Amino acid sequence: MRTAIVTGASRGIGAAASLELSALGYAVAVNFKDNAEKAFETVSKIRALGGVAEAFKADVSEPDEVRRLFQSSEEALGRTEILVNNAGISKIVLLQDMGDDEISELLRVDLLGTILCSREAAKLMIPRKSGLIINIASMWGEVGASCETVYSACKAGVIGFTKALAKELGPSGIRVNCVSPGVIRTDMNSALDAETLGSLESDTPLLRLGTPKDVAKAIAFFAREDSSFITGQVLPVNGGIIV
Ligand code: NAP
Repeated sequence: MRTAIVTGASRGIGAAASLELSALGYAVAVNFKDNAEKAFETVSKIRALGGVAEAFKADVSEPDEVRRLFQSSEEALGRTEILVNNAGISKIVLLQDMGDDEISELLRVDLLGTILCSREAAKLMIPRKSGLIINIASMWGEVGASCETVYSACKAGVIGFTKALAKELGPSGIRVNCVSPGVIRTDMNSALDAETLGSLESDTPLLRLGTPKDVAKAIAFFAREDSSFITGQVLPVNGGIIV
C-alpha cells in the first residue's frame, strides 16, 4: 500500500494529519517518541474509519532509530510515498538562561530530526522516482520570536532545508514543501496562560487560534494531485497573524 510516515503523530497536528492522509487512501505509519497510548489512539481512530495504520516508536533525533522506523514501516505497511516531518518540541526561555542540553535537544529534534528522516525517505524515494516530503515549520521560523530564539532558528533552518532539498530532489520526481503554522491549539501551547492565548487570538486577523485540523488540511493539499507542480514552497496556516 502507498504509505505516509508521519513523525510525532501521537498527538496534536501529527495525529490530525494522520487522519487526513488516511482519508486520502494512504496507510499511515504513526510515529511517536514516548506516548504509546496516544499513538495507539490515533491508530484506532484510523482503523475505526476503515483505514490502515500502525504505530512505530522512534526518536527522530537518533539516526539508528530513524533507519529502523523507515525499515519497519516499509516491511509492515509498504512503499513510503509521503513523509511528514512533524515531530517537534518547543521551549519558551531567554537565550542566556538556556542550558547546553536544552539548546542541543531543540536543535536535534526540531532540525536534525527533519534532516535525518528526509535522508532516509530520499534513499527510498529516489530509485522509485516518486515521493513527497512535507516539513512542518512555524511562523517563528519566518519572523523570529523573542524567548524562542533556538526554536526560531530550527524552524528557519527547516524552511531553508525545504527549499534546498526541493531543488536537489525535483529531478527525481520528488516534491518537498513546508507548512508553516501560526498559533495552534495543541499540548505545545499548554504552558501559555489564558490571557496570553486571548491576546494571541485578538492579534490574529481571523480572531481565532488554529486547530490541528486547519494544519492537517494544508498538509493534505500537498498530498493531492492538485499540487503536483508545487515544490520548494512555504504555505503559512496562521489566520493572517503574520503576512
Ligand atoms: P505536540 O502536540 O506537543 O506533539 C508533539 C509530537 O511530537 C508528539 O507526537 C510527540 O511524541 C512528538 N515528538 C516529540 N519529540 C519527538 C522525538 N524526538 N521523536 C519523535 N517524536 C517526537 O505538538 P504540535 O503542536 O502538534 O506540533 C507539531 C509540529 O508543529 C511541531 O514541529 C511544532 O514545532 C509545529 N508547530 C506547532 C505550532 C503550535 O502552535 N502548536 C505552531 C507552529 C509550528 P510523544 O507524544 O511520544 O511525546
